[in-house]
Amino acid sequence: MLTESHEALAREVLIHGPIGRSALGRRLKLSPASLTRLAKPFLERGLFVELDEESNGAVGRPVRPLDIAPDLGSFAGMKITGDAVYAVLTDARAQIIDERVVDFAPKTPDAVIAALSSIVSAFSAIAPAPLVGIGVSLGGAVDDSGRVIRAPFLDWVDVALGPSLSSATGLAVTVENDVVALVEAERWFGAGRGRSGFSVITIGAGVGYGLVVGGEAVHTREAGVGLGGHVPLDPTGPLCPEGHRGCSSALLTSIGMCAQVRAALGRPVDYDELLSLAVAGDPVATAVVEAAARGLGRMIALAANFTMQPTVVLAGDGMGLWKVTAPRIRAAAAADRDPLAEPVEILVDEAGFRAWARGAAAVAIQAAVTRLAF
Ligand SMILES: [Zn+2]
Repeated sequence: MLTESHEALAREVLIHGPIGRSALGRRLKLSPASLTRLAKPFLERGLFVELDEESNGAVGRPVRPLDIAPDLGSFAGMKITGDAVYAVLTDARAQIIDERVVDFAPKTPDAVIAALSSIVSAFSAIAPAPLVGIGVSLGGAVDDSGRVIRAPFLDWVDVALGPSLSSATGLAVTVENDVVALVEAERWFGAGRGRSGFSVITIGAGVGYGLVVGGEAVHTREAGVGLGGHVPLDPTGPLCPEGHRGCSSALLTSIGMCAQVRAALGRPVDYDELLSLAVAGDPVATAVVEAAARGLGRMIALAANFTMQPTVVLAGDGMGLWKVTAPRIRAAAAADRDPLAEPVEILVDEAGFRAWARGAAAVAIQAAVTRLAF
């Protein structure tokens, strides 16, 4: 029977493999006998491989490191935004083989499933090993069966996305909240790799928040609700559509920032132009960008203070803000941090939507390893 211990073992081997049994036992707090018992179904079904013996030097005993089977198959990771699907084809280590972007309209489940299915067909035709799993991520709350409970960017409520895509493609589909999937990517192969704890803040069309503690991503029902979206950051800031003054959405989203500049200049401005105007010294754009920088710095400090994890990973399609105001963001984060606390470590992931799609592949790979073992 699949247990949490099996899932933890699969994650450790995926993330850290090839990894020696003694190191695995230490990480998972397992005896050698327990580790052998837990690894058995994975080895019997060819999901793990034992590498050739190598001496561990210290005591001269041979060890046989465990690793994920390199021929496990190929995976598709797909991130749905409000108007496009960003997709990567990966191997079992989440290494990218190919990538695609497919636009869709209207924002209906049928249009999105058609876009996802066309990508899966294209990947199937070029994948070096058969596709064995699909991971899909999107901004919103999802349940374990792959149903989308709510996705505001798509105006969706209760859509059976996973089951529908699975019947359209004949493949196993894992649906995950996009920030939860991104946190997996950051922990596994991204900016947070090697750190046992960190929070992730994403800015762009929305504001997202996720957390890793003790080497594990915090994955509760609340993780998909978008609780980072309306954190109060500036009592004198602009209003968000829900009426909060100076919340994270009002200050930090591309829509919120552009709306402020549009109101002042009397013409529409997109995010890239807004940042360019600020760099060129336009007073309106500069004020908006500086308020965003202070707000983001405050949010970084809040995340570090409340979680007691001094590392914060920044990601999302709004990383242009970091490029033009990094010193201000750092200064604002430091200002809200107790001098006795460790300085906040800010890591930036500029991989954009590729990182989100790769995160979706990562959750599909983890799901496949445990699904195929039992
Ligand atoms: Zn708000």
